[in-house]
Amino acid sequence: MYRTHTCGELNKNNLSQTVTLAGWVFRIRHLSKKTFVDLRDRYGVTQLLFSEETNLELYNKIKDLGREFVIQVTGKVIERSSKNPEIPTGEIEIEASEFNILNKAIVPPFILEDETDGGEDLRMKYRYLDIRRNAVKKNLLLRHQMAKETRKYLDAQNFVEVETPVLIKSTPEGARDFVVPSRMNPGQFYALPQSPQTFKQLLMVAGLDKYYQIVKCFRDEDLRADRQPEFTQIDCEMSFVEQEDILNMFEGLTRHLFKTVKGVDLAEFPRMTYAEAMKYYGCDKPDTRFEMKFVEITDIAKGKNFPVFDSSELIVGICAKGCSEYSRKQLDALVDFVKRPQVGAKGLVYVKYGTDGVLKSSVDKFYAQEDLKKWADAMGAQQGDLLLVLSGEADKTRKQLSELRLEMGTQLGLRDPNVFKTLWVLDFPLLEWNEETNRFFAMHHPFTSPKLEDVSLLDTDPGRVRANAYDLVINGVEIGGGSIRIHDRKLQKRMFECLGFTDEEAQHQFGFLMNAFEFGAPPHGGLALGFDRLCSMFGGSSSIKDYIAFPKNNAGRDMMIDTPSSISDAQLKELNIHLSPALSEGEGVKF
Ligand code: ASP
Repeated sequence: MYRTHTCGELNKNNLSQTVTLAGWVFRIRHLSKKTFVDLRDRYGVTQLLFSEETNLELYNKIKDLGREFVIQVTGKVIERSSKNPEIPTGEIEIEASEFNILNKAIVPPFILEDETDGGEDLRMKYRYLDIRRNAVKKNLLLRHQMAKETRKYLDAQNFVEVETPVLIKSTPEGARDFVVPSRMNPGQFYALPQSPQTFKQLLMVAGLDKYYQIVKCFRDEDLRADRQPEFTQIDCEMSFVEQEDILNMFEGLTRHLFKTVKGVDLAEFPRMTYAEAMKYYGCDKPDTRFEMKFVEITDIAKGKNFPVFDSSELIVGICAKGCSEYSRKQLDALVDFVKRPQVGAKGLVYVKYGTDGVLKSSVDKFYAQEDLKKWADAMGAQQGDLLLVLSGEADKTRKQLSELRLEMGTQLGLRDPNVFKTLWVLDFPLLEWNEETNRFFAMHHPFTSPKLEDVSLLDTDPGRVRANAYDLVINGVEIGGGSIRIHDRKLQKRMFECLGFTDEEAQHQFGFLMNAFEFGAPPHGGLALGFDRLCSMFGGSSSIKDYIAFPKNNAGRDMMIDTPSSISDAQLKELNIHLSPALSEGEGVKF
C-alpha cells in the first residue's frame, strides 16, 4: 500500500497514529538538527519532521532530497509546536521513521507556488507542472464540480446525454471549419463540429425529447484572450417547447450552478430585447451591474452651429454620477480612450455639472447654460455629475459609447466581480447584412426560426425579421445562446434562399436535415452555454485558458506537445495531399 492517508486530511484527531503518506516534495527547510519537508499531493500539504536526535540515519538520508521528488514516508502524527492556521493540516506534523524515494525529479523550470515566476508559454509547455500549483489545480477542480452539477441538474430534468460525432460535415455557425482529410476518400474532408447543432436537432426528430452534452466544439477563428480553437459547450435541445420553456429551464440550471458551486442566490433574470440593448447600452451583451444608460439628445443638441453635431446622425451620451470634479488630466485620458483605434471615435464632448449648479462644457462656444441644462435634464443629471457625449453615424457611435460606458463603470468601481447580474437578451434579428459579400447571413445560425408574425417580412424587408433567438448574458459576458428552430421543410428552404443558397446547394449541404423534417419533426429549440467561460466567471478570471487543462496559446499552438506540426511525406502521400514546394521543403511547415 502506497499510502494510508492523503496529504490533506490529517489533523489533531489523528495524533499518535502511525501513517504513511506519498506525494511530492514541496518545500524543504533545514534548521539546526531538524529538517522540515512539506509534502504535497492533490489534497493538500502535510509537514514532515526529520530530526537528527530521534533518527540520525534518516536525517542524513534526506540530504539527497530535492524539490518535486516523489517520496513515501511513514511516521507518527504529532502536534506541531508552531501551528499554521491557514491549512487544515496546520496543527500536526509527521515525525518520520521511514522514507522511500519513489522517483527523483529535476529542478522545475519555474516556481511551483501560487505566485510563480514562469511566463505563460513556459507554464503551458510544462502544463503538468503548472497544474501541480494550487492556483491552477483549483480551477480544474472547479470545472469538474461545475460539470458534475450540470449533469445532476439536467439528469434530474430528464435530459439524456448523447455523444454526437466529431468527424462531420461542416455546420455553419459563422466561423471557419477545421478540416480533416479522409485517407479512404481521397480529396475529401471531414469537418470538426463548430457545434453539434444539426445532430441535436436530428435527435429531436428521433424522439429523444431532451438532449444534452458537455461537448467539445471547434472553430478556426482568430484568437483572443477569451477564445480557444477548441472549447466546450453545455449543449442542449428540447422538443415541444416554446422560448419561455427554454428560458425557464436554463434559468434553473444557472441558478442551480450558482447556488451549489458558489453559494449565490441569483435574483430574477431580467429580460431585454435586442433593440433595447442596442438603444440603451450600444451592445447586445450589456453589463447590467450598473445603469449609466444611453440618452439620445440628437434633437436638442443639433442646430446650434456646432458643425460636428450638426452633421451627425446620432448624438448620444451617458451621465457619470459624481464625476463633475474630474480633472483636466482625467478628461484628456477619456478623450484619448475614445480616440484609440479599438474604439475609433473622433472626439468626446463633456459637460461638468458643477456642485454650484454651473455647467461647463468642452463646447461652451456653441452652447449656452440653458442649452446645456436641457441636456442635463434629458440625461437625468444632477449637480456634481459629468455628461459624456459622442456623435456620428448611429451604429458606430453606439458601439463607441458602449466602450466608454464600460470604461467609466470600471473607473468608478461599478463592475465588482463578486456581484452577478444575469440578463436574457431576446428577439435578435434573424439576418445580418454583410457589406463585403453583399448578402445576408444568419445572425445566430440558419436553423433559427423567425418569429411567426414576422415571416411575411422575409419577402419585403428581411433585415427587419426578428428571430426566436435569445442570449444569456452575465455581467456583460455572453454566456450562451440559442433559439427555437425551424422544423418545417418549406420554411427552412425559404431561409436558405434568403441566405443566397440555390436549391441544389441547400439540398447538397443540408438535405439530410430538410429530409428529416419531412418525417415528422417536432417543434423544438435549445441553447448552448459556453462552459469554459462559465467556469472562468465562477473562478473570477477573465481568461478561459486558466480553466482548461491543456489550452492553446494565442497563436493557436499547444506549446507542450508542440503542435500544429508537419507530418511525414509518407502520411501526406497516403492522404493524397500535395503541399506547395515552399511548404514541403525540409522539415515542412515552419512557424
Ligand atoms: N449551436 C448554437 C451555438 O453553438 C447554440 C444553439 O443554438 O443551441 O451557439
